[in-house]
Order: sequence, then structure tokens, then C-alpha cells
Amino acid sequence: MLNFTVGPVMSESGVLEFGAQSTPYFRTSEFSQLMLQSEALALKALEAPPHSRCVFLTTSGTGAMETLVMHVLNARDKVLVVNGGGFGERFAELCRLHGREMSEIRLSFGSSLREEDLEPFARQGYTALLVNMCETSSGVLYDMPLIARFCKRNGILLLVDAISSFIADELKMAEWGIAAVITGSQKALAVQPGIALVALAPEALQRVEENPDVSMYLSLKSALKNGERGQTPFTPAVTVLLQINWRLRSIDENGGVARERERICARAHAFRRGVTNLPFTLLAQSPSNAVTALKVKHGAEDITRILKDDYGIWVCPNGGEYADTVFRVGHIGYIVEADERALLDALYDMNAKGLLQ
Ligand SMILES: *Cc1c(COP(=O)(O)O)cnc(C)c1O
Repeated sequence: MLNFTVGPVMSESGVLEFGAQSTPYFRTSEFSQLMLQSEALALKALEAPPHSRCVFLTTSGTGAMETLVMHVLNARDKVLVVNGGGFGERFAELCRLHGREMSEIRLSFGSSLREEDLEPFARQGYTALLVNMCETSSGVLYDMPLIARFCKRNGILLLVDAISSFIADELKMAEWGIAAVITGSQKALAVQPGIALVALAPEALQRVEENPDVSMYLSLKSALKNGERGQTPFTPAVTVLLQINWRLRSIDENGGVARERERICARAHAFRRGVTNLPFTLLAQSPSNAVTALKVKHGAEDITRILKDDYGIWVCPNGGEYADTVFRVGHIGYIVEADERALLDALYDMNAKGLLQ
């Protein structure tokens, strides 16, 4: 199967080899050294400010979203959530679940965030803003410099879910004054699912220190404490951590994160050029490099099913009210030129057979 979803995605053989071996014991100085190296490489890739930290939690991306809401935010915060799709909605839900005072900046599906969407929320006493840098359900990449300026101007703590954007889109933690960034192992890091990364700048670290722990398993305090010596409080997804270390080193040694981003960006552009003669429209006004959401008149679910059953290609169906009209093609993971050609050939073949109408 060729996998053009937005995660889990295809991995290089160097990554896959770890999965074929027994899991090594991890309470060793060797594993600790490896984890400290991964932390340093992750912070470098994120362009994090000095004295930032990054911890590796054994949970999916949503676990990292939840621990931000639980442990970086507190009951005195007044939170803004950018809600332009399924993942913005998840942040809003988490805020409600954990009793955070919260307002949503609601955007129509596929729309970019503009200055005039933010302005009504200026000088209203908001203390934190949660945003999914790429709203993966629609493929929209929000204007991060705009959000960063708004937050700086209003003294608002900026917390960013870059689960699908990390590596795929430009991300400047220090320059944009981001207090916390989260990502996951199964998106552009392109290893198996199971680990979420939480990077914290000094202002977020201070909040974690001061806020009470409301979860033992997702405690950032204990992850940070154990992380000082390259360890984790509980048994982590050891194999995934080894894969992450291999990938971070490989990216660093091959031109850095900018180089890897260029490859993903080139793939996204080539795909979007490739489908211009097909009966699709691009959903997102400002698409992320990670994913392209395609709009059809109807039958999106059939398209994804036929691609899977007849062509051996996975793409992402959309859920809910867009199930019939939107599907998504990912550009992250280990995709080679022949794979890209196979996807376009399949789509053109389906079009010739009248299956895209
Ligand atoms: C994939 C994704 C998540 C959720 O990750 P899980 O690992 O499925 O919990 C959250 N936010 C964004 C933006 C994502 O793309």
C-alpha cells in the first residue's frame, strides 16, 4: 500500500529497522545520552529560545494537547481558541472539559485567519491563545507571524499545536515568541505513532513549575524532572524514541529541517499542479505544505475507497459534514517520485473512467 494520509505515514528503512529488533532496556546511561541528544536536536529544529526544554511523552498528539490545557494553563487563564475545524474544536472541547474560561475564534472551514478575526479579542483580558498551526482537517496553515504579533501586542501566551506542521512548514519558536509547541511522532517525523513532543520556552516552564499537577501520567513537571537526566517517569515507547533519534539526526546531518521542509513543499506544489485538470477544487485558502484538502461535488468517500481497494493507495477521508465533499492528500513521510506519479496516474485513470464526477 502507498500511504498518502497525514499520519501515520511511510517511513524510511533506517527507521523501520528499529521495529524489527527486540526493545532494548532503557534505564541505562546510553539511552539517557540518546534522549538528551534528541531533546537538543528537537529544540534546534524548532528554533527554540535559550533555556527551552523538550520532553517526550508516550501518548498520541491529543495527549500533548491535553497536557498543555491541564498544566501550562490554569484556572485563572482566559483562553482564546482558534477554531476552524476538527482540531480547533478539540482544543475547545479540552478547555471545556478542564474548566478553562475560553472563547472561540470561529472560522469557516477552509478559511485563513485574518487581522479582523483577531482584533475583536484585543484588550479583552485574554491571557493565552491555543492554535493548531495547520488545521489538519482542512489543510489551512494559519498566518503565524500575524498571530504572534497579536499575542505579543496583547501580552497573550501563545501555545501552538504544530503536530502536522512541524518540519512541513516554517516554524520559528523564538522569533514568534511561542511559549509551547507540540508535535507527534507519526506526522512529518515519519516514525511510528506513540510519542508526542512538548517543547516549552522559559515562560511556559515557569507556569508548569507554578501550576498544580492534575494528572500523574501526563505531568509535565515529572517529565521535565526525569528529562534532566535523559529519562522518562514511566516506560516509554522505547522503539519509537529510537526512531525519533535516528530521524532527528538524519535530518540534522542532511541540511537540517529547512532542507526537509523544501522537499515536502516541492511535493505539495507538484501535486497541486498535477491535479489542476481534474474536477477538484482546493479547499484551503492558505494551504500547509503537509496536506492538500480537495473538494468534490460529491462522492469523496467513494474516491478514497476506490483508491484503497483498486489502486492500493490510502488517502484521508474527511468526517462529519464534509464526508461526502472533502478528502485529503498528505505530502509528509517517506514518499518517492514514483509514489507521487502512481497517485496522479490513479486519479487520472479514475477520471477517465468517470469516477470523479
Ligand atoms: C494528527 C493531529 C492531532 C492529533 O494527533 P493524535 O496523535 O491522533 O492524537 C492533533 N492536532 C493536529 C493538528 C493533528 O494534525
